[in-house]
Amino acid sequence: MNFKDYIRVIPDFPQPGIRFKDITTLLQNGPVYKEAIEQLKQLIQDKEIDVIAGPEARGFVIGAPLATALGVGFIPIRKSGKLPGETIEADYGLEYGKDRLAMHKDAIKPGQKVLIADDLLATGGTIQTSVDLIKQLGGEIVGAAFLIELTYLDGRSKFEGFDVVSLVQY
Ligand code: AMP
Repeated sequence: MNFKDYIRVIPDFPQPGIRFKDITTLLQNGPVYKEAIEQLKQLIQDKEIDVIAGPEARGFVIGAPLATALGVGFIPIRKSGKLPGETIEADYGLEYGKDRLAMHKDAIKPGQKVLIADDLLATGGTIQTSVDLIKQLGGEIVGAAFLIELTYLDGRSKFEGFDVVSLVQY
């Protein structure tokens, strides 16, 4: 299946010069969405995973179905101010703009093996920040899985010590 046929590219969103990869057109197609999660699952099947963590909001639509497919838990990494319990937080930069991410302090038990999932790897800033938060909580990163990777931004060069996999590359 060519997933690119189902991803809509919108030029100059949310800023001039950004070619936005809109996955809503893939998500609305049940069989294609299901197949994407199935193929991502196959890419990570060699790994021992206790939990999957995904950043708000599109990390949820990839990470949560992947977690249920594997039968492991899902941990939301949220924008600052959204989680009700005690949190740890960190600032990060995007291909466009800036933000702040948060995790519950008790979201991960020390030594748990964590796979990070998101819709898209661009500069890697979001995932770098997620890695930092998970490590602060004592988690061990065993991999990162993405629906889409923008290879020309070389985000994966930020990461050492774990595999980075993606289904579709631009
Ligand atoms: P980064 O932290 O630079 O790797 O950016 C990753 C996050 O920003 C992803 O979770 C995407 O949701 C979003 N993002 C960045 N660039 C794009 C793009 N060109 N198209 C769609 N989403 C993007």
